Amino acid sequence: MAISEKVKGAMVVGNYIRKMFEEGIALKKIHGNENVFDLSIGNPVLEPPEAFKQELKRLIDNPPPGLHFATEPAGYVETRQAIASQLSLDTGVKYKKEHIVIAYGAAGAVNIGLKAILNPGDEVISFVPNYFEYVNYTENHGGIIKYVAADEDLNPVFSELESAFSPKTKAVIINSPNNPTGHAYSHTVLKKIAEMVTRAAARLKTTIYIVSDDVYTNIYFGEGKCPRILNYYPNTIMGTSYSKDLSLPGERIGYVAVHPECVDRDNIISGLNYANRVLGFVNAPSIMQKAVCNLQNVRIDTNIYRRKRDFLYKALTDMGYSIVKPEGAFYIFPKSPIPDDEAFVLGLKDLLVLTTPGFVFKAPGYFRLSYCMDDATIAGALPGLKKGLEKYRS
Ligand code: PLP
Repeated sequence: MAISEKVKGAMVVGNYIRKMFEEGIALKKIHGNENVFDLSIGNPVLEPPEAFKQELKRLIDNPPPGLHFATEPAGYVETRQAIASQLSLDTGVKYKKEHIVIAYGAAGAVNIGLKAILNPGDEVISFVPNYFEYVNYTENHGGIIKYVAADEDLNPVFSELESAFSPKTKAVIINSPNNPTGHAYSHTVLKKIAEMVTRAAARLKTTIYIVSDDVYTNIYFGEGKCPRILNYYPNTIMGTSYSKDLSLPGERIGYVAVHPECVDRDNIISGLNYANRVLGFVNAPSIMQKAVCNLQNVRIDTNIYRRKRDFLYKALTDMGYSIVKPEGAFYIFPKSPIPDDEAFVLGLKDLLVLTTPGFVFKAPGYFRLSYCMDDATIAGALPGLKKGLEKYRS
C-alpha cells in the first residue's frame, strides 16, 4: 500500500466531520434541502462585514504597486503595525510590529508556532474536549500530544495537569472560547493555569510555552472582554485569524503574536518566519494582508451568534438536554443521552439532523452542534433533536 499508514489512521477521525457533511449533501438530494438540518460543520454562513467588501473593492479599483507580489514571510509592515496597535489596545500588553508574523489562518499560525519550538519527542499538553486538529499539528512537527480531561464545568482537571508535566513538556495549548464546547476560561482559571505552568517549568528547569489559539476570542458573550492567557503568562505564543470574527475562513488570513516578554522571543520570531517558508505557506495571501490592515476593529455582529446561542440553549435545555452554557464561539456541546455518542449521532442522522460525536474531540458521551447556520436550519433541527432524545431516553 502506497499511502502512509500514519496518514491513513489519522484520516479516520479527521474525516468524520467531512463525511457527515457529504452525507448531508446526499440526504438533501433525497429529502430536499429544506428537510435536512446540518449542524455538523463550523463553516459560518454569515457574510463578511460591508467594510471588508469595500476594502477589497478599493484595492481592486486602485491597486497599490506590487499588490500581487510575494511579501516578506512575516507580512506587510503596515499590517503588522496595525495588528500590534490594536492588540496592544485590546490587551494592555505592548506589542510591536516586530512581534507579529502574519499567517495562513489560525491553522497556519498554530502550525508555525509549534514548528518554531518543538524538538522531536517534545510533549504538548492539550485540554480536552479539544479542536481535533491539535494532535495533527503537534505530530506535524515531531511532538507528542498529552491530553488533560475537563471537569463537569469544562475547566481542566488540575490534578491531571499537574501529573501531565514532564521534563519533555514544551507547550500547553489553550483554546478559549473553545471548539467544540464554546466554553471560555475565567480569569481565575487562566491565572491558575499560568501559575501551575510557571511552577512546573521552574521545578523541571525548562521553558514551557503556552500556545494560545485565540480564534474565537472576539466572539464572546460574557461581561467585558474575553479573558486571555497572554495577560497572565509572558511565554505565550498567540495565534488567531479573521476566519471567524470577520467570517473569512476561505481567505486564509491570520497572525501569530509573540508576547514582548517571551523567553527567546527574537529567535522564536525568526523561527516563525522560517516555518512560514518551509511549511510552504511562504507568506499569507498578500491581498488579504492589505484588506485586513484597516479592519482591525471591525467584526461581524456577534449579537447574531449570541441570539442563536440563547435560542438553541433554551430549546435544548427545555427538552431535557444537559449542557454547560457556552460563553463564546458558535458551538454547543450537550451530553448524549446514551454513552455511545456515535450511535446517538447516527440516530439523529436518521432523523435528518447532522451533528458531530464527542469522540472526535476526545470527549465521548457528548455531541457538538455548530450554530453558525441560518435560523431556519437551527429551528428545523429541533423536532429531530427532541425525537432523538425521547427515543434514547425511553
Ligand atoms: N482553531 C480552532 C479552535 C478552530 O475551530 C479552527 C477552525 O474551525 C481553526 C483553528 C482553524 O482556523 P482557520 O480557518 O483560521 O485556519
